[in-house]
Formats: sequence, C-alpha cells, structure tokens
Amino acid sequence: MRAVRLEAVGQLFARDIEKPSPGPGQMLVRIEACGICGTDRHLYLGEFPAAPPVTLGHEFSGIVAEIGEGVADFRVGMRVTGDPNIACGRCSQCRRGRVNLCEKLQAIGIHRDGGFAEYVILPQNQAVELPLDLDPLHGTFCEPLACCLHGIDLAEIKTGDSVVVLGGGVIGLLVVQLARLAGASRVVLVTRHPEKRALAERLGATATLDPTGHDPIAAINGASGLLPGGADVVIECAGVRETVEQSVRMARTGGTVVILGVMPQGTKIEIEPFDILFRELKIIGSFVNPFTHARAADLIASGAIQVAPLISRTISLDEAPDAIGRPARSGEIRVLVLP
Ligand code: NAP
Ligand code: ZN
Repeated sequence: MRAVRLEAVGQLFARDIEKPSPGPGQMLVRIEACGICGTDRHLYLGEFPAAPPVTLGHEFSGIVAEIGEGVADFRVGMRVTGDPNIACGRCSQCRRGRVNLCEKLQAIGIHRDGGFAEYVILPQNQAVELPLDLDPLHGTFCEPLACCLHGIDLAEIKTGDSVVVLGGGVIGLLVVQLARLAGASRVVLVTRHPEKRALAERLGATATLDPTGHDPIAAINGASGLLPGGADVVIECAGVRETVEQSVRMARTGGTVVILGVMPQGTKIEIEPFDILFRELKIIGSFVNPFTHARAADLIASGAIQVAPLISRTISLDEAPDAIGRPARSGEIRVLVLP
C-alpha cells in the first residue's frame, strides 16, 4: 500500500510499504481522508519529536476493512474516526483521569503509523463510529475539533459571556463555532487574512478584527472598543508571541484566558504578574483531547459544527510530502489528503 513515511528529520516520502494486519483488539481501517495539520510540518522539521520511520497523519477517518480478535462493537463496513492519542492508563496522571497528560502518551501518526496511507491500524479503544451518510471528508475534523472542545470545556463559558478568539486558522474557526454553541453572546475573531474574517462571520462570529495597522487591544477593550473593559473569555488559537501577550490584556478583570496555540519550546512572553493578581485572571493551558473525541464526532455527525467551508483543497498521497514540507499557502485553512 502507498504511505507517506517520515524516514528522518527532513526526509518525507510517499512509498510502497506492506499492508498491515490487525492484531488482537485492533482494526484495519481503509482511509477515506486525512487532514494536514501544522504539527505534521513540525514533525518533518524536527521541531517536535516523532519516532521515524513512521507514517504521519493523525486527523483521519475511514471504513473498517478487517477486525482483529476480540474486537467488539465494530464491524467491517462501519465508518470510524480515530482518536490518535493513546494513554497508558497506568501512570500517575492516567490514574488521576488526566489521560492527555499521560507520562507515556503515544500518538498515531507520530509514534505509530498514521493516516497518510491507504490503511491504518486503529485500536478499538481509539475508534468512534461515524454515520455512513456523512461526507467522507468531514470525519477528518473530529481530531482538531476534539482539541478545541477541551479548550472550550476549560474556558467554562457562561451563557451570555463575551469571547475573543485570536487566530483564524482551523482551530480558531472551530472555536468560534463552539463558543457560540456554548452560549456566548458576542464572539470576536481576530485574524489578519480578510477571507478568514469573512468566513468567521459566516460561521457565527459577531464581529471580526484585523490586528494590523492599529492597537488591537484598544480596539477590543478600549472605551469605544468592541468589548469595553475586555472579554469574559479570551481563547488564543494563533500560537504566536504577540497574541499570547494580547490575550492576557484583552481579558476583563476576573476573566479567563485559554491557550490553545502551540509555540516553539523556549519562547518567552511578557506578562505582568501584578495584572494577574489584582485582576484575578485565570490563565489555562489546553492540551489535546481528553475524553472529547466522541463528543466532537457527534457535533460533526449532527451538523452542529460546520466543517465543509474549512476544506481548502484535496491532494493525493504522492503530493502530500511536498504540501507538508512547505508553509501553508496564504488564506488556506485545511488541506486533506485522499489516498
Ligand atoms: P494556523 O492555521 O497556523 O492558525 C493560526 C492562525 O493565526 C493563522 O492562520 C493566522 O491567520 C493567525 N495569526 C497569525 N498571527 C496572528 C496575529 N498576530 N494576530 C491574529 N492572528 C494571527 O493553525 P491552526 O491549525 O488553526 O492551529 C492553531 C494553533 O493551535 C497552532 O499553534 C497549533 O499548533 C495549535 N493546536 C493546538 C492544539 C492543542 O491541543 N492545544 C491542537 C491543535 C492545534 P492570519 O494569516 O489570518 O492572521
Ligand atoms: Zn493536528
């Protein structure tokens, strides 16, 4: 079968490898589509460690093709989405129920062969069923949506709260929709690209802001800003220094900041501890998808979250190494790989 293999840092190729067979408790899934995520580029560049040689791709869905011994609840022909993050279930974090912080966390598409291939091995415990009448491309959004859902859970949005979302990539555009579903009265998306702002307004943002050419903090929480006094909740989804600094200053006194964006290790930011203390700010990190994958699948299967407008283009497995290796094209949101 064809697969996109990371052989070493900077060495990514589409090649033929042996089709795997499911072991006990595992299924062989025929991939329908797999999304390219910024993490794939970090893995290719060695900015985040993978376990090469390995097939990349952690945002996949497909059809069950074979089932291994002892697989219950799934049958050949079912459509499934895979939760790529596998916790050990035994370490001190797992025992506290914090499976996303597992000391031995392994991910399909990072440490084990993933979804940029014709087939993937999926342990039954990592699978969630999707309806057969769902668009086969839409299941790929379960993984990023599950990560956003964890961030939204941590944000504890109350009905009527105001929310600022920084960064209009796939994560920001999913978070805008989740914030509206969670009951936010106003959701302001801050991003530079005009098409992303227009899309956010179609997806439920009540206002959008271009951060360039003026002070975006004043434009949010200034006396004549969009949310005078600041937002109840700010969700950082850009993963850049300036937006993390802005997120703290855009939160109202007593407000909450959730950091979803990933920055290179070692990056430092300027925050005033005085501000955190006297304004009682809550600053929370949100890492991956603990127990949120099935809810994400329901949100996509029910159509409560729109994902079709987030698909920029589809490419083949042979085109994937080049697409993963280059920075995303301007204005592009999600590129999906179809075997
Ligand atoms: P992305 O497409 O790179 O989204 C980030 C967006 O931020 C860009 O599209 C860019 O859009 C915008 N941006 C850049 N500089 C900005 C600025 N100064 N002000 C406002 N917006 C700015 O990536 P993504 O896939 O949506 O992911 C977003 C972040 O979440 C990444 O860091 C990713 O690694 C992280 N992530 C975290 C988790 C988790 O579990 N916590 C899971 C998945 C992804 P414009 O060009 O329009 O400004
Ligand atoms: Zn990802």
